[in-house]
Amino acid sequence: MATIFSRIINGEIPCHKIAEDSEFFAFLDINPIAAGHTLVVPKQEIDYIFDLNDDLLGRMMAFAKKVAKAQQRAIPCKRIGLTVIGLEVPHAHIHLVPIQKESDIYFGKEKIKVTQEELAQTAENIRSEYK
Ligand code: 5GP
Repeated sequence: MATIFSRIINGEIPCHKIAEDSEFFAFLDINPIAAGHTLVVPKQEIDYIFDLNDDLLGRMMAFAKKVAKAQQRAIPCKRIGLTVIGLEVPHAHIHLVPIQKESDIYFGKEKIKVTQEELAQTAENIRSEYK
């Protein structure tokens, strides 16, 4: 059965898309820990990120870098933090989180409250900075 991320990539489940190319897809996390929290996913369904071959993993990081640069331009923050967890969805993904301080990327903290309209606006702001 397709993972929830494959169903998002295939357009079966809606998302606030940021960018895609032939191999990767980026979209806002539905339950963000910070404004602009984005997931980067390979289109190929591989559960564990460190099972990606070296070339694919390298290209995934290069794609994530372009997304992070767009986030940095669109969202007031000091850095874009990068985390891999992968305990919930068995489809490799990188979390890109705009942060001011270390605790902003702590996944045990309460999620931020955002409306669908705010998510749509945030996605639009990041997309407009994606080059
Ligand atoms: P992890 O697998 O890294 O522990 O967590 C999975 C992440 O995917 C979580 O941050 C969760 O909010 C996000 N997520 C789970 N299901 C969906 C979904 O259907 N849409 C989106 N946009 N994000 C999701």
